[in-house]
Amino acid sequence: MKVVARKWPAMNFALVLLAFAGLLNAGGQTAKPAGEAAGLTVIHSAHGPNSAAAERAHYVVLVSLDGFRWDYARRDGATNLLKLGTEGVWAPDGMLPSYPSLTFPNHFSIATGLYPEHHGLVANSFRDETRAAEGKLALYTIRDGRAVTDGSWYSGVPLWSLAEREGMRTACLFWPGSEAEIAGERPSEYLKFDDHTDESARIDVVAAWLQEPAATRPHFITLYYSDVDHAGHAFGPDAPETRAAIHRVDGLIGKLEAALAATKLPIDLVVVSDHGMVKIDGPWVTLGDFANLMGFETAGPLLYGKTEADRARVYDELKHASEKFQVYRRKDVPAALHYDENAREGDPVVVPTGPYAIRARGPEAGHPDQPPTVGSHGFDPRTMAEMKASFFAAGPDIVSGRTVAPFENVNLYPWIAHMLGLALPTAAPLPDGKLSILSGTLRDNGVSSADVSTTGKNLP
Ligand SMILES: [Zn+2]
Ligand SMILES: [Zn+2]
Repeated sequence: MKVVARKWPAMNFALVLLAFAGLLNAGGQTAKPAGEAAGLTVIHSAHGPNSAAAERAHYVVLVSLDGFRWDYARRDGATNLLKLGTEGVWAPDGMLPSYPSLTFPNHFSIATGLYPEHHGLVANSFRDETRAAEGKLALYTIRDGRAVTDGSWYSGVPLWSLAEREGMRTACLFWPGSEAEIAGERPSEYLKFDDHTDESARIDVVAAWLQEPAATRPHFITLYYSDVDHAGHAFGPDAPETRAAIHRVDGLIGKLEAALAATKLPIDLVVVSDHGMVKIDGPWVTLGDFANLMGFETAGPLLYGKTEADRARVYDELKHASEKFQVYRRKDVPAALHYDENAREGDPVVVPTGPYAIRARGPEAGHPDQPPTVGSHGFDPRTMAEMKASFFAAGPDIVSGRTVAPFENVNLYPWIAHMLGLALPTAAPLPDGKLSILSGTLRDNGVSSADVSTTGKNLP
């Protein structure tokens, strides 16, 4: 309740409680009719209604199509996406994921405008030896609910937190980080991740959110589909199964567009992906075959040496071990990768030179080994075009018929914040993304009086 108490003067507090009596139980979390109608459980945070300024703001629906490579839409004739790009803007040569081009790092880079080493999710699985020393859980993996829902792993101010703290309600139908309290906030409404959630029902929930009364209607909504990534891993980027997933997901975008149009609300629809997909070449490359990793903690390909002597030794052992990767002391990782500042990245750091599946260690003795998936990602998008992601957007704030050259996905954050009239964070970590990169796609060129009227400066 601290959020409500901070945003509304005491005089209005009782009114807020009255207004929400029908929506909230005493615990502040309950299933919402919108979700129940679709058979889903929506978690409802104890937030107040939209501020007057937030009510006047536009809406942004941000959709992620996991693993939807930049060239898929044209290659396979994803007509709804291509139409969206023609009506608004798109990146025909792709959008650049942050390194590593993995799911959680990039979703959270899109949400925070920060490179992975600045928001903290440096991989899908990584260790934090500082936490280990404090007796806390030291391993973050995307399948561990304890880690995923614990806000202390995350830095930065995700878009939903940025909005909520200015009195604008938000809702997340899945997004990495949306199940944790981050920067003191949670989305007003969100769901516990369940990849089996019916694809079409997800759109019904989004539509129901947008049909809520103006006081509770969320202005920033996320929606997520994993199908194309799953197919790309299992069958490879060129397989018929992956093409079928591309068409299925494109059909969902068509359904979503119709649902959004029916609301008659001023909604900017932004469809992105987190990364691309490439066919993996060869079997596992196991770093432990080239270097003695005794005393090292590991997570995926990440190496955490306990002593400087160990780190220097393993660096030397890996230096000329294989043409399939380059190894750097962390401080020497090329600057363009933005992967040299965070101890969670380990030391030394191994960077693949091609589509090779690299891991620190094989399975423990007695456990069967599995070959790498047919397709994968995580590689440097600057040297491997297959890693580039998709970007399509249209709506009342976006110019029509414009294309943009490849840009880093951290730049979406100030762009979306601008559409919602939200001021950017002024405390560290400051966003890495810049509004100037995409401001030419905005009808107001990124300079608007709306900045002043909807930043919540009129709130107490
Ligand atoms: Zn992904
Ligand atoms: Zn994937």
